[in-house]
Amino acid sequence: MTTEASHASPLAPEWLALPEDLNALQSPMWAAGVEKNDAGVLTIDGIAVSELKEQFGTPLFVMSESDFRSRARDFKDSFDAAFADICGGVDVYYAGKSFLCTAVASWVAEEGLRLDTCSGGELAVAARAGIAGPNLGLHGNNKSDAEINRALDMQVGRIVVDSLDELERVAKIASGRSEIAKVMLRLTPGVHAHTHEFIATAHEDQKFGLSMAEDSTEEAGLSAAEEAVAAATSYASIELLGLHCHIGSQIFEPDGFAVAGEKLLRFLAAMQSKYSIVLPELDLGGGYGIAYTPVDTPRPPAEVAQAMAAVVRSTCDELGITAPRISIEPGRAIVGSTTFTLYEVGTLKTVRVDAPGEEAGQENVTYPRRYVSVDGGMSDNARPVLYDADYSAILASRASDAAPQLSRVVGKHCESGDIVVRDVYLPADVAAGDLLAVPGTGAYCWALSSNYNYLARPGVVAVRDGAARLIVRGETEEDLLNRDMGVANV
Ligand SMILES: *Cc1c(COP(=O)(O)O)cnc(C)c1O
Repeated sequence: MTTEASHASPLAPEWLALPEDLNALQSPMWAAGVEKNDAGVLTIDGIAVSELKEQFGTPLFVMSESDFRSRARDFKDSFDAAFADICGGVDVYYAGKSFLCTAVASWVAEEGLRLDTCSGGELAVAARAGIAGPNLGLHGNNKSDAEINRALDMQVGRIVVDSLDELERVAKIASGRSEIAKVMLRLTPGVHAHTHEFIATAHEDQKFGLSMAEDSTEEAGLSAAEEAVAAATSYASIELLGLHCHIGSQIFEPDGFAVAGEKLLRFLAAMQSKYSIVLPELDLGGGYGIAYTPVDTPRPPAEVAQAMAAVVRSTCDELGITAPRISIEPGRAIVGSTTFTLYEVGTLKTVRVDAPGEEAGQENVTYPRRYVSVDGGMSDNARPVLYDADYSAILASRASDAAPQLSRVVGKHCESGDIVVRDVYLPADVAAGDLLAVPGTGAYCWALSSNYNYLARPGVVAVRDGAARLIVRGETEEDLLNRDMGVANV
């Protein structure tokens, strides 16, 4: 038996390989500038995580500003290059819902990207950051009148309308203001993509978007999407810019984008000719995948851009139409890998779990699984609970020669599902007071954070040129109590 086999746990999922070196960082999961120093301490731009803990405490989101900027630029440059001779480049809207604060909004603008929002609150952040209205998009399946008015006040560049109801509402509000609202229609092309696969269905059974299925309205033969195009062209207070779709998230293969893009282009061409209109824009959404664990294999933006450009080019050629201006909306793929969460280890325990024996014909045997509790959990990373998402972790405060032990990193909440990393090999000598770092937590972690169990939400530190600064401070106990109206008011 090799040493490797003697350490690999039968309780580990099939995809989880025993790492060759528990102290080594497995890149694509980590931001550029994250390294281990000679003492085995994790550093970012040369700053040791032990210093960050000293200064800012744990749990803490640690983001590389330079990595964020370079990923943002990479999307913009790669898509601009691939689409240059098709539609003169691409407008890249950073999906603010993945992670948004004023500092990040300003980086987005400085790198030449635009910003997607989906609530009045996100519009408020954009306004505070000084983002010009025309560089903003507003999404959402249930925008309030106040949000629509706010978008018009700010001269938002596009309101992405989600339903016939909403189209009528936007038209009415804009007309009442004697203004013209710039609108895109969000369609559901019946393409759903996740990771390596996509599925195509005729009918849509979800809350977002206008169905393209021909029998999706009671009026025979007319899809909800077409009904919306027809209605939009009839309102004097609506300028219909074009069409939009968003087919899923954490997608690695470009085929799903290609199928959806082709379907929308065919529909766009049909609408242009039937209603004698020009729809100058087409948004193909976000959803580009990142590495959360060593087995995830994201593609570089340039590769995805070229695959999508080839389909747009050939479809427009075949249809004989001028290609619309393309836009995309990456969130996770820009911010996700820029950030790791730093936790301190508290209690540990080991349980024994039944599994089939490793030798042929052996009865069930029990194997150890170690639970490593950290000082945060589902309140700073809800994705494992919400989506069964997998993450990885590394011992960040020192090197260790100890043998690998299959571990489960859990939080401190009153919920047995409060798991941060379901399965990871960590050194067997991990102990209370050690620091753990979990990579890939830039997107949909801080954004989805809560105060469950009255935990204070962690701060976010941005590191650039060897200096760390808070871009969002962590909550204090006072923050936790300051909306409580007090006993006297009961
Ligand atoms: C969530 C969302 C995005 C961003 O998705 P990512 O997976 O973070 O790239 C883009 N567009 C729309 C409409 C979305 O809802």
